[in-house]
Amino acid sequence: MTHGVSRRRFLGTVGAVGAAVTAAPTEVKAKGRPPGWRGTDRVEKIATNCEMCFWRCGVLAEVADGRVLRLEGNPDHPLTRGRLCARGNAGTQLLYDPDRLKWPLLRTGARGEGKFKRISWDEALDVFASKLKDLRQANGPESVAFFPHGLAPRFFSTLMKAYGTPNSAEPSFAQCRGPREVGYALTFGHELGSPEPVDLEEAKLIVLIGSHLGENVFTSQITAFAEGLSRGAKLIAVDPRFSTAAGKADWWLPIRPGTDIALLLAWMNVLIAEGLCDREYIATYASGFTELAAHVRDFTPEWAQPITDLPAARIRETARAMGAAKPAVVVHPGRHATWYGDDTQRARAMAILTALLGSWGRKGGIFLPTPVPKGSFDLPSFPESERGRADGAGTRFPLASEELGVTNGLVDATLSAQPYPIKAWIVYGQNVLESIPQRQRTLQAIEKLEFLAVVDVMPVEQINYADLVLPEATYLERYDPPTIVETAKTPFISVRQPACEPLFESKPGWWIAKQMAHRLGLDAWFPWETPEQHLAQIIAPMGINALELRNRGAVAFPGRPYLEDRAADAGTPFDTDSGRIELYSNRLKEIGADPLPRYTPVVAPPEGHFRLIYGRAPVHSFARSQNNETLNALMPENELWVQARSARALGFNDGERVRLENVDGVKSQPVRLKATEGIRDDCVYMVHGFGHRSKGLRRAFGRGASDTELMTRVSVDPLMGGTGMRVTFVRLVKESASR
Ligand code: SF4
Repeated sequence: MTHGVSRRRFLGTVGAVGAAVTAAPTEVKAKGRPPGWRGTDRVEKIATNCEMCFWRCGVLAEVADGRVLRLEGNPDHPLTRGRLCARGNAGTQLLYDPDRLKWPLLRTGARGEGKFKRISWDEALDVFASKLKDLRQANGPESVAFFPHGLAPRFFSTLMKAYGTPNSAEPSFAQCRGPREVGYALTFGHELGSPEPVDLEEAKLIVLIGSHLGENVFTSQITAFAEGLSRGAKLIAVDPRFSTAAGKADWWLPIRPGTDIALLLAWMNVLIAEGLCDREYIATYASGFTELAAHVRDFTPEWAQPITDLPAARIRETARAMGAAKPAVVVHPGRHATWYGDDTQRARAMAILTALLGSWGRKGGIFLPTPVPKGSFDLPSFPESERGRADGAGTRFPLASEELGVTNGLVDATLSAQPYPIKAWIVYGQNVLESIPQRQRTLQAIEKLEFLAVVDVMPVEQINYADLVLPEATYLERYDPPTIVETAKTPFISVRQPACEPLFESKPGWWIAKQMAHRLGLDAWFPWETPEQHLAQIIAPMGINALELRNRGAVAFPGRPYLEDRAADAGTPFDTDSGRIELYSNRLKEIGADPLPRYTPVVAPPEGHFRLIYGRAPVHSFARSQNNETLNALMPENELWVQARSARALGFNDGERVRLENVDGVKSQPVRLKATEGIRDDCVYMVHGFGHRSKGLRRAFGRGASDTELMTRVSVDPLMGGTGMRVTFVRLVKESASR
């Protein structure tokens, strides 16, 4: 092996809570010593996973005297190969953030007042367990709803299932990836998963529809994107805004917001009419081509031109470029896919386009996941709820994931007490006031609760409304369940393990879950004493060595990413009802939905208003990183992109501070206006995650404007419950006139 970590040995099993990894020091000298450094020159490198976003890049933490000095990319990590983004490098600033939650807190004031008293862990866990027992007794376990996010709450999810509630929901479904997972699963029989399996480095043509790679940064994906472009891949960027990706594009299509399905149908029309689709692939693998061809016959580029505001010639030219590059075309499925409420159908249209190009399972297109054998524990069955789920997954929203749930469905149920009352929320690692739109409704739901417990690292917005606050250790101080990624060309397992002991009185999630299980009499679902024992069981069938895994941080397995790798396999690679790619969906027909995607006009902005669109910045993750010292210095606030002519016509100047007011009269905090030619005149744009209202986030408080705060209306996808969030209309208000 090629770096210092390979020479480190683990000396024994870590038994105590949050104890530091017992590794032998390497000979690596400390780099970047802090001012006044008096410590040792013996530095350990601990391999772990980043959690500054959800991509889980491989990290080496340089540690001396129990202090993490710096982070660097782990070159042995098969996906990220030694690269970290700015946020990953700034992870130590989360670890040492003075605003962190430090000890358990019990509310003493009114909800929202932010008054708490410090309590011990024993008292906190006793209060928590006793409340859960009372709720189970009085209202049934389903009266407790769980809102997790990310890896850390996985152990707590087991606890909640053992407790007996089916009501768990993550924003990654109904506020993010849900529509695309459903749309692609309907078509190919497989969800895309995360990281999405896009073969960017081998693509000859990349199509981005509202995906702003470059501003939305995940190290391995952005590297593959750059590699693909440097090898000569062409790029089509469909975006109402001249994004960073649009700046690299061969074709920038500044589409009228909300009309993407019309563009996709017109592209299909050209591919079929001009014989540019992969006929052999379709004949071999797909069904429903005849119905599709008839469906799109009239959706010509000329039909789409007035709808999309894109020239018909440009639509035809880009369709032909796709046809010429097939099958090595990545139609990127995007990540944040909840826009207009017709999002599952838009995802279906993207999946069908991918199928017409023969790109699913082909080099340079969408590659296939490779299953990795995983060990498990022989746990008792989880109790079944007779009352079923309250969020509508599987019922009101027939195609919603019952694993990931519908967050807004749980808010609805809490407000309406239908189908039964929800009395308590446990929010773990997500900021429900930033991730779920219609904040006022979320706050009203919180007001109705008997009990709100929050587990987090930072004092995010909902802390002030909590009855009980539990401070979790950061990702650099804790074990999490191992990450098994099958949607990489080379599948792998990687570990998150502590680089240092938890600061203050914070505790790792696995410990919190086990302590609670013990108090609730649910130990049978936690038949392991240490995370190392848990890890050993998971990797048992993999034929790998735990010590090597923990030393290296990750171990890869051979991948079989393309259909040609599976030629000798029995059965079909498509897990649909028919075993074929379903261009025409009988499943959608059965539930009364369009079996083929159809364009339906979205509501246009009223006179004098703009559609608010939003996105990401490379140095911030969601609403989680704005308080980070380094990242805050790089980007302390967001700005509002406004078409320069529109700004001038309305009497606004570049750099001026303005407020946004939505159609319901809700005003944003002041935000700096960026007058630019790089956006259409029917929309404005800002980066999500700013405008924090929690005073505990001292650096982030009051900086910039919150898009979520303005989302008083949404358009809900009837198929999977996702909240379309590009239906917010705002007008600009002079800061001086808005007070
Ligand atoms: S993309 Fe950046 S923030 Fe996300 S896991 Fe990787 S290094 Fe961390």
